[in-house]
Amino acid sequence: MPWVSVLGVAGGISIVSAEVVLNALLGVWIAVLLVMRMRQSRHAERAIESVGSGYWVLDARGEFIDVNAAYCRMVGYTRKQILSMHIADFEAVATRDGIRAQIERILLNGQERFETRHKKRNGGWVELEVTVTAVAKHQVIVYLRDISERKKAAIEINQLALFDPLTGLPNRRLLQDRIEQALHNASRSKHHGALLFIDLDHFKTLNDTLGHAKGDDLLRQVAQRLSSCLREGDTVARFGGDEFVVVLARLSVDAGDAAAEVKSISTKILTLLARTFELGDIDHTTTASIGISLFSNNALSLEDVLKQADLAMYKSKAAGRNGLHFFDPAMQVAIEARMALESDLRSALREQQLVLYYQPQTTPDRRIRGAEALVRWQHPKLGLVLPNQFIPLAEESGMVLQLGLWVLETACRQLVQWATTARTADLELAVNVSVRQLQQADFVEQVLSALLRTGANPRRLKLELTESVLVSNIEDVIAKMTALKAHGVSFSLDDFGTGYSSLAYLSRLPIDQLKIDRSFVAQMVSSENAESICVAVISLARSLNLTVVAEGVETEAQFDLLTRVHQCEYVQGYLLGRPCPIAEFDALLAYGPEAR
Ligand code: C2E
Ligand code: MG
Ligand code: MG
Repeated sequence: MPWVSVLGVAGGISIVSAEVVLNALLGVWIAVLLVMRMRQSRHAERAIESVGSGYWVLDARGEFIDVNAAYCRMVGYTRKQILSMHIADFEAVATRDGIRAQIERILLNGQERFETRHKKRNGGWVELEVTVTAVAKHQVIVYLRDISERKKAAIEINQLALFDPLTGLPNRRLLQDRIEQALHNASRSKHHGALLFIDLDHFKTLNDTLGHAKGDDLLRQVAQRLSSCLREGDTVARFGGDEFVVVLARLSVDAGDAAAEVKSISTKILTLLARTFELGDIDHTTTASIGISLFSNNALSLEDVLKQADLAMYKSKAAGRNGLHFFDPAMQVAIEARMALESDLRSALREQQLVLYYQPQTTPDRRIRGAEALVRWQHPKLGLVLPNQFIPLAEESGMVLQLGLWVLETACRQLVQWATTARTADLELAVNVSVRQLQQADFVEQVLSALLRTGANPRRLKLELTESVLVSNIEDVIAKMTALKAHGVSFSLDDFGTGYSSLAYLSRLPIDQLKIDRSFVAQMVSSENAESICVAVISLARSLNLTVVAEGVETEAQFDLLTRVHQCEYVQGYLLGRPCPIAEFDALLAYGPEAR
């Protein structure tokens, strides 16, 4: 209570003034002051109660001396309960020590004002503005004003200013911030970003025929569907009317790959929006047109990207709606080529346009011990297409499963062929397996049935996995590998050193071989670091009891360093033979790599 402190001050003064002549006068004056202060403070207290502010008196340790009824109502405890508690019991963040230090500071400096929130008995929170004032050597008075309403209003104002009330999506203003942010991020990192301008087709007709309520309903549902197909860090905003904008962050570093990612997300959006909407009792279908602007560190402004995407959107409208267009004509051409390639790939599988090439793997004395089977596509118009151009496409579309089965079957038939002559009967054949294949529930059966159907010897078949298998369910991968190994199939870890390379996982995978990635081999003569990595992989393989093969060996210097200096067991690369059709490979077998 305030008079406790006032009395303390008055007591001190009365001792000092004990034997002085003016004592009496001063005494009267002090008495008058005291009464006035008491009245004032009681008045103040009543005023505080009437506006509902909370009010505490605390000692220097932060223990309660008193608390008023208004505060009791705010937090839902009785006065008695509160007096037995500690402030730290109410505080969201502060600790006892922190509170004690703060009170010490206030006792020195006089006053502090801050905002905090207190926990209510019912579990809720009350937002408070707190003023703490030192009133005596060891006491502080605390006024606590409930500002929950003000805070709520501020949040609502913020919501109104930045979000679209109909859909709850960020509005144009917040979108601008997000675009600026995305442009900034793209200019700092090497990643691409993209802006998608999405406009519903024939929305006006719906509004005119079914009314605005149905139109609003559709917009809300469109907003939900758009939000559902985005990744964390992406933004979807309502730009106005029936226009939405999506900002995609952290796309691939490579422009072509980034464009493919955007295309895939945009296609997903188009498919999702083409599904029937239930507008009350009406089933409604709609389509959308999308325009895309891809950006990286190319110094585009906010206005540029919006304008580009908008222009591209009009191209989609002009092309018959329900489609997507890139602003960059070159990008559009590239994407169309890729889309064409994707549809061609379907017929490639049917029309047997795929071919297996074989690249020799040799010992240090250049004897061919086996080969890696590498797929090629004999395209009717484009000629020979390399796997890097169509394997990613095949993986994206799921076609890699069918393709993988064909490769496996063809490789097995080759093994059977080799088994017929003594000279080739011992050759091993390595086959690349995509993670998508390995993730199939019946992967083990697929491999075993290919072996069974063809009659190939499982001991001559080696499956090449990449470290990307480590990101999928590792237990499942181990179980499948173990099952196949029980039949004699072996495993090699391809492109080793470029992926995740968690040694903890590596030691659990039942692999037989590490394949040093060709990027290290390519640099090993000129870079000591690259050479050190090759040496480390070789010794890692040795200590884990695995064999090791270096791929991409192109020069005698690399060959010499790997085989003679560092004792690498197997090598593969252009120096020993390029991937070639089976007839050429047979010739290589007959005359040896040196006779080429
Ligand atoms: P990979 O499994 O790492 O295959 C080695 C790649 O390095 C092959 O490229 C090969 O032609 C190339 N190469 C071999 N020696 C040298 C050399 O001395 N110098 C250089 N610069 N390159 C060399 P390719 O045939 O274009 O295959 C690329 C990738 O495509 C393969 O990398 C593999 O990941 C994938 N791939 C190939 N065939 C299949 C397949 O049947 N199924 C799956 N899922 N992926 C495949
Ligand atoms: Mg490979
Ligand atoms: Mg490789």
